[in-house]
Amino acid sequence: MRPLAPVLVLGAAAAALQGCGGERPEGPSVVLVIVDTLRADRLGCYGGPEDVSPELDALASESIVFEDVLAPCSWTRPSIAGLVTGLHPRGLGIFKEAGDALPATTRTLAQELGAAGWNTFGITANPNINTCFGFDRGFDTYIDSDVVFEFMDRGDAQETYAFGHVTLPRSRRVLRRALEWAADHGDAPGFLQVDLMEVHERERQLRPEFRERFEGEPDQGYLAAVAQVSHDVGRFVADLRALEGWTDALVVVTSDHGEALDGDHAAVVVKPHGDLLYETQLQVPLILSRPGTLDARRIPDRVRLIDVMPTVLELCGLRPSPDLHGVSLAGLLTGTSLPDLPEVFVAETAWREREKLAAYAAEWRYVENRDGHPGTDPVELQAAGGAEDGAATNRLEQHPEIAADLARHLADWERRHPRVESTEGEALGAPARQQLEAIGYGGD
Ligand SMILES: [Zn+2]
Repeated sequence: MRPLAPVLVLGAAAAALQGCGGERPEGPSVVLVIVDTLRADRLGCYGGPEDVSPELDALASESIVFEDVLAPCSWTRPSIAGLVTGLHPRGLGIFKEAGDALPATTRTLAQELGAAGWNTFGITANPNINTCFGFDRGFDTYIDSDVVFEFMDRGDAQETYAFGHVTLPRSRRVLRRALEWAADHGDAPGFLQVDLMEVHERERQLRPEFRERFEGEPDQGYLAAVAQVSHDVGRFVADLRALEGWTDALVVVTSDHGEALDGDHAAVVVKPHGDLLYETQLQVPLILSRPGTLDARRIPDRVRLIDVMPTVLELCGLRPSPDLHGVSLAGLLTGTSLPDLPEVFVAETAWREREKLAAYAAEWRYVENRDGHPGTDPVELQAAGGAEDGAATNRLEQHPEIAADLARHLADWERRHPRVESTEGEALGAPARQQLEAIGYGGD
C-alpha cells in the first residue's frame, strides 16, 4: 500500500495555521469515546430497553444518531485500527492478536489533528490498542492499559496476566484522567480519545449500585454494565462541557464491535465476538453531539465505522486523504450532499482460527466461512437483520442468483483491497521506540 498523502487544510483561517507553528486552529475540540463491546441494540436510543442507558439516550436525543453502523471486524484491534485510520484492517495488515500492529506508513486521526494544531490525549483500558501495537501514534500523551494479557506480550511487558483474572482500568478512572487532561488543555482545540472496557468485562467490574440491576432478566450482567458505562459517560460529557474550552466540543460515542449474548445463534457461537460476522457482532452505535452546531437527527442510511475518521476531519475543517477507504459523512449530517458509499459493505475476521468475509447488501447478508466453523455453511445467504443461526438459516438454495452476485462483489473487493502483510516483527517494542525517540529518532 502506498503511504497516504497528508491532509490538506481547508479555509483561510485553517490554512493560516500551516507553516506558522503554534497558531491556534479554528476547529472544534473532539472527544472520541469508544465503549468496547457495545452492541447498538441494547441502548434505548437504538430500540433497546428504555431503562438501560438513560444518559446515552439523553445525549442521543440532542445528537446525530446513525442507526445502522457496521464495524469492519468483530474484534478490537482491527476494528479500532479501521476506526482511527479510515482504512479496512486488511489494508493495515492487522488480523491476529499476537503482534499485528499499525504500520508506520499509516496516518491516524490523532496524527492528522495533531499535525493541524490540536492538542492530543489518548487513554485505553484495553491493552489491544496499547503503545506496543502503534496506537499511541499522534498523541502528545497516551496512557496504556496497565494490564497486558499473556497472548499480547511482545517481549516488552513488565508483567502479563491470564485473561479473566484481573481487573482492567475502570471507566471512572479512565474518564477522570481524561477530564484532568482536558481541564489543563482548554486554551486550544484538543482531541481526546478514550476506550472503556466495562461492557467487555461486565460482571467483573460492576459497582455495587449496578450489580443488582436487571436481576432475572436475560443478559443481566451485560445490561448492568451498559447501565454503568452509560452513567459514567453521561457524567463525563456533562463535566467536560462545563470545562473552559470544551463547551462546544464535538463528542463522538461509538464502539469497536458488538457481542453475542444468551440466545443469539447458540448453535454456532464459540466466542462472543471476533468469531462471527453477523449483525450482533458488527452493529455498533454512532452518536455525534455538538449542540448548537449539529442539529439533532437520526440517519437511517447504513454507514461504516471506517467512515468516522474522514467525517471528523471534515467537521474540523480538514480534508481527508482521498486514499482512505472510508468516506466523510459530513454532507449527510448537514443534509447538503450524499457520501459516496458503496452498495455492498464488507467485513472480515481472521482472528485465532477464524477466516470469514461478509458482504452486506440492503436486504441480504452474505458470508463466506472459509474456516470450517461448526454449525455454519461455507457459503451463507441470510436476510439482513434476520436470524443468525448459521447453516440453519441459510437461504442460499432459494436465492442462488443473489448469492452469486454478492460472491462477485466480494471477489472484486478482495482484488481491489489486497491483504497487506502484518507488520509483526518490524515494529519496535515500546521501550526501544521510546529510547529512540528520546534521542531524536523514530516517532512521527
Ligand atoms: Zn473490543
